[in-house]
Amino acid sequence: MMYVSTRGQSEAVTASQAIIRGIAPDGGLYVPETIPAVDEAFIRALCGMNYRERAVAVLGLYLEEFSKEELNGIAAASYGDNFDDPAIAPLHVLDDDTAVLELWHGPTSAFKDMALQIMPRLLTASLRKNGEARTVSILVATSGDTGKAALEGFRDVPGTRIMVFYPRDGVSQVQKLQMATQEGENVNVVAVAGNFDDAQTGVKKIFGDRDFARTLAERGYFLSSANSINWGRLAPQIAYYFSAYCDMVGAGKLAMGQKLDLCVPTGNFGDILAGWYAWQMGLPVGRLICASNENNVLTDFIATGVYDKNRPFHLTSSPSMDILVSSNLERLLYCLTGDAARVRGYMQALAEQGRYDVGPQLGADIRADFTGGYCRDDEAKAEIGLRWREQGYLMDTHTAVASRVLRDLRAREGAARPTVIVSTASPFKFGAAVLEALGVVTDETGPALVDELAAVTGIGAPRPLSGLGKKPVRFVSWVEKEDMESAVSAFLA
Ligand SMILES: *Cc1c(COP(=O)(O)O)cnc(C)c1O
Repeated sequence: MMYVSTRGQSEAVTASQAIIRGIAPDGGLYVPETIPAVDEAFIRALCGMNYRERAVAVLGLYLEEFSKEELNGIAAASYGDNFDDPAIAPLHVLDDDTAVLELWHGPTSAFKDMALQIMPRLLTASLRKNGEARTVSILVATSGDTGKAALEGFRDVPGTRIMVFYPRDGVSQVQKLQMATQEGENVNVVAVAGNFDDAQTGVKKIFGDRDFARTLAERGYFLSSANSINWGRLAPQIAYYFSAYCDMVGAGKLAMGQKLDLCVPTGNFGDILAGWYAWQMGLPVGRLICASNENNVLTDFIATGVYDKNRPFHLTSSPSMDILVSSNLERLLYCLTGDAARVRGYMQALAEQGRYDVGPQLGADIRADFTGGYCRDDEAKAEIGLRWREQGYLMDTHTAVASRVLRDLRAREGAARPTVIVSTASPFKFGAAVLEALGVVTDETGPALVDELAAVTGIGAPRPLSGLGKKPVRFVSWVEKEDMESAVSAFLA
């Protein structure tokens, strides 16, 4: 199976080449030329497997150059003791029609681990397959969760180095401490005096500097990225939708073949797009519910077919969804139209006017698969309190957005369909907001909030978070945004 660019002006490549490149030379995203189809027997077989085996079965359909043994080894190293639940992606049933898919049992307590624990191994195997001898150096600009998950994923992976830039005043205390205490011999973390956009712009500039690339090549390095437009991050996410379906059937909440709705808290559109791929492959899905916070550009897009990022940017308690440009949407537009020239036009309009209109037909096609909804910050916090009081279930602020959007949708429709809510972070990662939602007033800050939330709820905090205050701080340096390239150069000396 070959991978093609959504903008149609780059040659088709193999899966391993798509993973190495990340983004296509024409600026497009790689998508599989055809989506592999599965039948009910395939799903039944998955239901008898553990998470690792499910992941291998699904990934194998997309990564044909990887042998079964190779994928088995990669999955065993990626989804094991580094997760604090043997189910890896356990399903928690809330009531007859509702369950939560917990994707935050990995080392950084956010769902990014589901992809970033395995992607570095897929990448290094891809480098070997293509005879690349240089050391790959991952550069990341992060607003919080991605940077830490990428550091954990790449730490001490042979043949790789990783450097993360974060905005000095733009991440939470816990997020900052998570990165500053990062272990590993091949890692580096540097703060940037500026906001997330400054960090991101700086990294893009470094990627675009050809002279610098030549200098690094002479030293035996080349730069690559680990962000969510890389197919190596999207493909592993398809597996957990199959896994959730099997676990719903196993819990007696769904009959094999019955349709399941998926409700996904969405930012860059990667997580929910993986669910759409699972559906296109043959998983019985009823619809995808795209849940947003006050940055509701996707809610409006699904309702009207007009994508318009010209609007106020809101800082919310679900910061990983504070996004106005959802990069992975480009893949959906390409898959639904098969028309790269049209996608190019939309992306050009987005770059120049911050807006594009897909017209009535494509708009209707999108609405046939996706239902959009959003809620305000206070509504999401109220939802945390409600779930805790009514069901004794503690959820984080991002999951709460999805839960509230589902609640509102069911109220409008006057009925409940079987639905899995995708849970993207541990509540302990966003302790301040969760405590506030529970009505707890506290003077604590930073890592002490983790212990406070554990004391208030009687729930044990994930070990990497509860031990954070005691870990030695390794990275304290910061740079002006003009000096980011010199910092990379010093790291890769
Ligand atoms: C990244 C992230 C999201 C958004 O996922 P996308 O794939 O970008 O849509 C939601 N919640 C949390 C906690 C995240 O870290």
